[in-house]
Amino acid sequence: MNNSQLNHRDLYRLPWTLPDNAISWLEPTAMCNLACDGCYRENIKDSHLSVKEVKHHLDVFQKLRNTDCISIAGGDPLLYPDIIEIVADIKNRGLKPIINTNGKALTMELLRDLKRAGVFGFTFHVDSKQGRGNEWKGKNEIELLDLRLQYAQMLAEVGGISCSFNSTVYEDNIIPH
Ligand code: SF4
Repeated sequence: MNNSQLNHRDLYRLPWTLPDNAISWLEPTAMCNLACDGCYRENIKDSHLSVKEVKHHLDVFQKLRNTDCISIAGGDPLLYPDIIEIVADIKNRGLKPIINTNGKALTMELLRDLKRAGVFGFTFHVDSKQGRGNEWKGKNEIELLDLRLQYAQMLAEVGGISCSFNSTVYEDNIIPH
């Protein structure tokens, strides 16, 4: 078989399993309401793509990849003004919209709207190097479990939404003190 006969779609393993599925990464905005030490993205105010541009990115994903989930990141995707429309569009394409957020802008009202639009899940990025203010200022990884619990409880209240967490690991937060 030469290269021209290879169909890359045949190279993914099917059926999907939880640890073995293809996730495409969508970044509709570079704007964020935190400034994590380890962020790879420049925080740019109001740097939102248009809905048309975001949909074009989704078209490209669907043309070139076998994708199961769309991970909507940023910046923080909850600051994207048309996040509801994008979540609904992803759902209508038969894909699973997953919001990758620091959670700061999440309200119960927004969460319910996202649920109605078809959100599949949330991944909350919470760690001690995010410069969070208010009661979370200076909290270590163990103390931040309360914040993680808060987000999980919000999702549980609405129901039917998957919930996961991630953290950036640094030399001084890998072992909580
Ligand atoms: S929450 Fe995410 S996008 Fe925002 S500063 Fe932190 S790593 Fe960057």
